[in-house]
Amino acid sequence: MEVCPFEGITMEGGQVEFTDACRLCRVCIKACPTGAIWLEQSDAGPILERDKYKDVLIFAEQRQGRIQPVTYELIGKGLELARCLGQEVIVFLAGRDLKAQAHELLLYGVSRVYLYEHKALEHFRIEPYTSLIVDLVNDTLPNILLMGATPVGRSLAPRVAARLRTGLTADCTSLSVKENGDLVQTRPAFGGDVMAQIITPRHRPQMATVRHKVMASAPRLAEPKGEVKECAVDESKLKSGIAVLKFEPYQITTSISDAEIVVAGGRGVGRPEGLKLLEQLAVEVGGALGVTRPLVEQGWADYTMQIGMSGRTIRPRLYIGCGISGAIQHVAGMRGAEAIFAINSDPNAPIFDIAHYGLVGDMYEIVPHLIAMIREGDDPNGVFQLS
Ligand SMILES: Cc1cc2nc3c(=O)[nH]c(=O)nc-3n(C[C@H](O)[C@H](O)[C@H](O)COP(=O)(O)OP(=O)(O)OC[C@H]3O[C@@H](n4cnc5c(N)ncnc54)[C@H](O)[C@@H]3O)c2cc1C
Repeated sequence: MEVCPFEGITMEGGQVEFTDACRLCRVCIKACPTGAIWLEQSDAGPILERDKYKDVLIFAEQRQGRIQPVTYELIGKGLELARCLGQEVIVFLAGRDLKAQAHELLLYGVSRVYLYEHKALEHFRIEPYTSLIVDLVNDTLPNILLMGATPVGRSLAPRVAARLRTGLTADCTSLSVKENGDLVQTRPAFGGDVMAQIITPRHRPQMATVRHKVMASAPRLAEPKGEVKECAVDESKLKSGIAVLKFEPYQITTSISDAEIVVAGGRGVGRPEGLKLLEQLAVEVGGALGVTRPLVEQGWADYTMQIGMSGRTIRPRLYIGCGISGAIQHVAGMRGAEAIFAINSDPNAPIFDIAHYGLVGDMYEIVPHLIAMIREGDDPNGVFQLS
């Protein structure tokens, strides 16, 4: 009982009981002096026909007919994995009137786009999309299946994984393959203190979701490769127990994920009005405003503005962090920025360890000065003339 880090073992009437707190960490199995504890693994057998599974399947996400940028990032990573394995990248695309978009995807080096067109597939609907992907997986037997960690991917991937009885690693920050075809899925765990490496050795396909901006997009080629395969849609697969009462188009605005420049405010802002000052700076540099988690928790900013492990991942050309200490959970969401500029009153703030440019001082003195400089065009090094 003492060795269990989760207090998952109790003694009831002289009998050992494992409670819901048990995390199956196996510490007790290793520690038990008499070998009296074991874990039953009913389906732990090896995959019998592992070689039957090949290729990397990408779920191409479209919204109102526009392919979402995360798709090109998944293709970029998919091509890298496929090259290592001597396999190919294939794509699932569903929607309405998407032939042009399917052919556009071929310009990113994929071998085949499986296109499902039907008016009932115009907008994402979880049940039909799940059925179609599961059917395609059963037909093509991919080794790896990747989806974006977007609201769509986050609801679709677990359903597909459950139907296929395979594993799923959400929000991967890195993916690589072993020679035997196992996908090494890396993601932060325990609040970012540990980078966990997860493999799915006994099941296929190996499924992972990846957030937008975590991986580099595939380059666009001059000539398309591959083919578009138009797939017949079985009407019985379109049935859904969920009725759509009303559809309101999503307003597409520049979010922190897409902005070239992001001005971010942290707890050092001190008061909600401080964000107005940073908003002004964001307007001057043509960027978007982001925040750290404490500001969302205070109710000063919307969750969609949160940068970090439990918020959005950004990869802007320039990140300007004001009053931000540089906690690991925040850095996880912005370390991919091309240039990092930090303003902090504490010269020992960890953000300066990763910043390319830093100013030590009070943001309430520095930011108005910066705004004035930019307005007057006094920016000799062109630091803010990125866009
Ligand atoms: C599971 C988990 C998930 C998390 N996810 C996220 C996440 O997604 N995103 C996120 O941001 N955080 C996240 N956090 C919180 C994270 O650990 C930090 O607490 C948070 O990032 C700190 O925010 P901050 O830098 O704004 O505040 P602080 O750490 O308090 O830093 C404030 C900084 O402002 C400076 N400062 C003060 N006044 C001024 C001034 N006038 N001018 C200039 N500088 C000044 C100070 O020197 C200090 O360095 C998460 C935490 C956990 C446990």
